[in-house]
Amino acid sequence: MHLVIVVPCHNEAESLPHFHERLTAVEADLAPYASEPVEYVLVDDGSTDGTLALMRQLNQADQRWHYLSFSRNFGKEAGLLAGMRRALDLGATHVAVMDADLQDPPELLPQMCERMSQGGCDAVAAYRQTREGEPPIRSWFAHRFYGFMGKVSDANMKDGARDFRVMTRRMVTDVCSMPEVGRFSKGLFMWVGYDTEWIGYKNIEREHGTTSWSFFGLVRYAIDGIIAFSTWPLEVISLIGVFMSILALLFLLFIFVRALFFGDPVAGWPSLVCVITFLGGIQILGIGTIGIYISKIYAEVKHRPLYIIAEEA
Ligand code: UDP
Ligand code: MG
Repeated sequence: MHLVIVVPCHNEAESLPHFHERLTAVEADLAPYASEPVEYVLVDDGSTDGTLALMRQLNQADQRWHYLSFSRNFGKEAGLLAGMRRALDLGATHVAVMDADLQDPPELLPQMCERMSQGGCDAVAAYRQTREGEPPIRSWFAHRFYGFMGKVSDANMKDGARDFRVMTRRMVTDVCSMPEVGRFSKGLFMWVGYDTEWIGYKNIEREHGTTSWSFFGLVRYAIDGIIAFSTWPLEVISLIGVFMSILALLFLLFIFVRALFFGDPVAGWPSLVCVITFLGGIQILGIGTIGIYISKIYAEVKHRPLYIIAEEA
């Protein structure tokens, strides 16, 4: 097994030294599975603290610690992609992806590699059995999101799944071969198929530095995920349209018959206003939904690179 560990980093100057320490400690336990020394690909995603300087130091001290530095912040998904591509170039037979903040416990890696070496699966992934320490509102939305995704998309995602996993070369090759701009790795990992083994662990709070995700950042990421893997919103909007048209037809019939047989006493306008505003709302919702999809299509057809590498070693 030639394992390459990919780590996206955005302003992780506080975490990186700890990360280096913990992984170095774990390497002895990885040795039984490794045919070649473990290598690392750190991806500096436009950090504004000393992250890049630290990466240079690590690389100077040990050639196995490779790094890429983006010309600006391109997002974690771009970082993962760039890192995995580099890992393939390095000749990895297995690629691990994990966060720099040690919320993905490195001590799980030997266990994951052991499961991998037993064969029968192309990925061994970690998921959080608990979300202790996370703001309850965030957990609530996260649970709803995974439930919803399971229902409306063809990429079934495990609740609590993280981007912490070890994968075989062929699986990583398939994930990297998907050129889409609106990337949602958790979905892509499931979409490519193969068998994934899950290892559960307790949530671990970030010890150093701060998270780069705001609540609304996560909401946007969730919308990206839904749009990338489901056309369900478009179908629902269309169905509402059909339902409304049938209702309108029935209503028309009713008014017609009433006017024909009972004359037409002019009724008040409040009901009219209600109907018009309700329908107006649904129309705008429909147009907005279609708009989101179109904006995603626009981003895809521009065929821009997903990231620009300014420095690497
Ligand atoms: N990250 C990144 N680019 C970004 C945001 C985050 O590369 O724009 C990295 C970050 O450095 C970390 C990982 O993605 O290694 C997960 O980020 P974070 O810990 O902030 O997210 P959380 O654990 O709260 O989901
Ligand atoms: Mg984190």
